[in-house]
Amino acid sequence: MRPFSYARARSVDEVLTTLRDADVTLLAGGTELLNWARIGIEHPVRVLDVAGVPGLDAIEPLDDGGVRIGALATLNEAARDAHVAHRVPVLAQAIVKSASAQLRNLATIGGNPLQRTRCPYFRSDDGATPCNRRRPGSGCSALHGVNERHAIFGWTEECVATHPSDPAVALACLDATVVTEHPEGGHRLPARTFLRLPGESVTTDSVLRPGEFIVAVEVTEPAPLSAYVKVRERESYEFALVSAAVAVELDGDTVVRARIALGGVAMRPWRLEAAERNLVGLRIGSPQAREAVHGAFADARALSGNAYKIPLAGNTALRALQDAARQS
Ligand SMILES: Cc1cc2nc3c(=O)[nH]c(=O)nc-3n(C[C@H](O)[C@H](O)[C@H](O)COP(=O)(O)OP(=O)(O)OC[C@H]3O[C@@H](n4cnc5c(N)ncnc54)[C@H](O)[C@@H]3O)c2cc1C
Ligand code: SF4
Repeated sequence: MRPFSYARARSVDEVLTTLRDADVTLLAGGTELLNWARIGIEHPVRVLDVAGVPGLDAIEPLDDGGVRIGALATLNEAARDAHVAHRVPVLAQAIVKSASAQLRNLATIGGNPLQRTRCPYFRSDDGATPCNRRRPGSGCSALHGVNERHAIFGWTEECVATHPSDPAVALACLDATVVTEHPEGGHRLPARTFLRLPGESVTTDSVLRPGEFIVAVEVTEPAPLSAYVKVRERESYEFALVSAAVAVELDGDTVVRARIALGGVAMRPWRLEAAERNLVGLRIGSPQAREAVHGAFADARALSGNAYKIPLAGNTALRALQDAARQS
């Protein structure tokens, strides 16, 4: 690991002033950044620790039934908050299924969607493995290599990776907003398109501008009938093979509105829009609902090792639909 300087910020103004310099890297929980420095994914020069900036860990109910979570709230603080648990259970469930209890005590909700892919070629520390995301122009080792955990949607020959965040999938399902500050003015960014697909960029994972700082995530609409299902090789401390976040509105057991986001299938949470449309008017658990969900995978493209993800993701979405409906 190369040496870097370290300083603590005490206010948002101080963060924004310091971010005017291009060589500054923010440190929140540090659970990703320090690993990157260790294996050479990033070589920070000046690290600015924002974890102690007052006020940015607040979790507040919004008047319309939603919730605002400060970017520096830890994953455990967010999952344990009563407003999060009652108003948007899908988010609390996705957080609890992330990482380990120890990591969730440090990892922040703002840092979580900025974690990098778990593609083993990207994480390799030999300094030479072809990987366009790590070494632009070097090729994609996963395209014809080990790709069991890679994408079935939105990939290009340049990169077939998936994004590993669980909370980002719930936030995309909930049509949440990522609230930012920037020396030139902040933005309100849709969580659905916060992460970039390989066709948009393979070197920059998110739409954040240089010097932009996440201050909160907001869900403006409550989703009491919502659930998160994560399928993984062991039941804890493991990334998703596939996952599904679902929020529904029902009339009896008939779908009035459905929102479905999948994890582990693309470089951003993947909204299953065809299923969302086709489920309206169908009964949860009916053969027609099953067809509406599995039929939405017509444009999925499997790699040599991951065709299993297509039926698995469909069944995971159906299970999440049933779990969401059961909350009523
Ligand atoms: C072993 C292991 C298992 C894991 N398993 C899971 C899992 O199952 N599911 C899951 O979802 N995640 C998992 N994670 C990822 C973990 O949740 C993330 O590492 C964590 O959420 C990142 O948050 P952080 O505060 O530690 O970020 P940091 O490491 O501090 O920062 C990460 C990046 O985000 C930037 N950053 C941080 N905060 C901000 C901000 N407010 N504004 C702008 N930029 C910011 C930093 O500059 C850095 O580039 C796992 C991690 C590990 C190490
Ligand atoms: S899938 Fe993406 S991250 Fe993995 S080797 Fe290919 S370019 Fe690199």
